[in-house]
Amino acid sequence: MPIRILPEAVSSAIAAGEVVERPSSVVKELIENSLDAGATHIEITVEAGGKRLIEVQDDGAGIPARDVPLAIARHATSKLNSLDDLQAIQTLGFRGEALSAICAVSRLELVTRHPSDDAGTRLRSEGGGEARREPIGAPRGTVVRVRDLFYNVPARREFLKTDATERRRISDLVSRYALAYPGVRFRLIQEGRESLYSSGSGDRREALAAALGEEMARSMVALPEQGESAVRVEGFVGPATVHRSSRKHLIFFVNGRWVQDNSLSAAVLGAYHGLLMVGRYPVAALFIGLPSREVDINVHPTKSEIRFRNQNQVFTVVQRSVRAVLLGQAPPPVEMETQWRGRTPAAGAQTISPDWQIAHDLLEINRTERGFEPQPALPQADVPLLRPVGQVGAAYLVAEGPDGIYLIDQHAAHERILFEGLMSAREESRLESQALLEPELIEFSPSEAAIIDQHLEGMRDLGFDVEHFGGHTYRLRTLPAMLSNLSPHAAMRVLVDDFEEDEAPLEAEAELRIAARVCKRSAIKAGQILSASEQRKLLRDLEACEAPRTCPHGRPTMIHLSVQSLERQFGRRG
Ligand code: ADP
Ligand code: MG
Repeated sequence: MPIRILPEAVSSAIAAGEVVERPSSVVKELIENSLDAGATHIEITVEAGGKRLIEVQDDGAGIPARDVPLAIARHATSKLNSLDDLQAIQTLGFRGEALSAICAVSRLELVTRHPSDDAGTRLRSEGGGEARREPIGAPRGTVVRVRDLFYNVPARREFLKTDATERRRISDLVSRYALAYPGVRFRLIQEGRESLYSSGSGDRREALAAALGEEMARSMVALPEQGESAVRVEGFVGPATVHRSSRKHLIFFVNGRWVQDNSLSAAVLGAYHGLLMVGRYPVAALFIGLPSREVDINVHPTKSEIRFRNQNQVFTVVQRSVRAVLLGQAPPPVEMETQWRGRTPAAGAQTISPDWQIAHDLLEINRTERGFEPQPALPQADVPLLRPVGQVGAAYLVAEGPDGIYLIDQHAAHERILFEGLMSAREESRLESQALLEPELIEFSPSEAAIIDQHLEGMRDLGFDVEHFGGHTYRLRTLPAMLSNLSPHAAMRVLVDDFEEDEAPLEAEAELRIAARVCKRSAIKAGQILSASEQRKLLRDLEACEAPRTCPHGRPTMIHLSVQSLERQFGRRG
């Protein structure tokens, strides 16, 4: 084919793809426009997960009637004049791309009135085609209605997730903005139901409750006021007892802009180092402020990536502030290490002694309004010798120890046993893998392929000999012996299934994460009946673990009913 300049409709649809990936990206751009317009009330209405309708209404400045057609033109913005302005940009938008991009892939209706105009203006356009404009009565402010998103881009439409998933993304997004802008009243109505409301009182704690729920808000701790540093950090972090399965709950705003930034995540995770289980992530909402010339915001069309001029400084300030709060809240981990019994943990394994977790739980119970009470005595980390009594519901083992009854979750316990076995085998380079008779070609979706690419190294270390074959296809030669009862296909699915989207573990964790997944897949399931000797073996193996009380994902493997508590329950003791 000869080289040609693409027709405008094609090039704008391509460009639109970068800005508008899914309904939540539309919501993001529209909210940012409302904020830039100085709105104090923003109401978002969503139907069919945003596929049928996204409406964002604000009481901001509105658009002067004569400028309305320009608003949906490409590279048209009122926020930037010259390249120099970009250095000192105070608004969230500046690229002049959002409305034109949204318009190109939907049926758009915009109603707006600027205080200098007597009447409002309505503008409608479908798929970026000819815009129709007419005067209309309207209150001050702007309403943008986006109908039938991607109606003219079937490839994108098919790529969308279920309504429920898209709805969740939208409410996550609106929550974040409600949190970052406590002075603005946000109301989100999804499928006719109010799913979020923030009062706009300006109180961050209150916004936190609106965004993350009362209970979570109550458990989170505010970062103290900062000193002189050019980098200011405020916000909230959760205690180490509150943890999640993905990094999604680390929320960062830089100069009022929501960003995703690996170095910021790493700074926070580093602050929690030693306080959390493998593969578990803390919850945090941090608002970072620094002079605008210190950040480059023009990295990506969605503006959610940034570059810091002095990344180390930001990293250090964030990590220090978070760490200080955590240590002020909880006993320092050094003390815990003296409690550690048994063999030393495998290098790189960030497991922590589970008694740490228990100590935390106890502290939580003793928490007062003002903070933590002194630290209670710590229970033992390891488990005593256990005598199997039997199995309940084909899921739990009942065992007797010198100090009471233990109820053991057979699946979680076996996961822990396999995980420690796998990690020490890897340590001692005696990890077994099984060669396939024929190398197997396996094709993945693009997003799955992205996960695999990211983890190739860690996968090889654990016995998956995988290499990229072409496109999204991979060639598999060996499998970890633990998964040898699975088909190559099923074994590879273990790696990619239910990875939370946007979940991108840091290098060091990736391998532990994969190991934990492999173990989860090959562990005994609930529903499996165990013979007496199998029960005995499971208990013996668990006793030998370094951290027998939790599974690699941080859930408890056992519940202990002490003799004392039994006596109390039966009224034998006061
Ligand atoms: P950008 O935000 O980067 O300027 P957009 O395409 O999002 O680009 O918006 C184009 C222009 O339309 C903005 O610069 C602004 O002048 C105007 N505009 C868009 N949304 C609103 C709104 N809700 N209230 C007032 N003006 C708006
Ligand atoms: Mg904008």
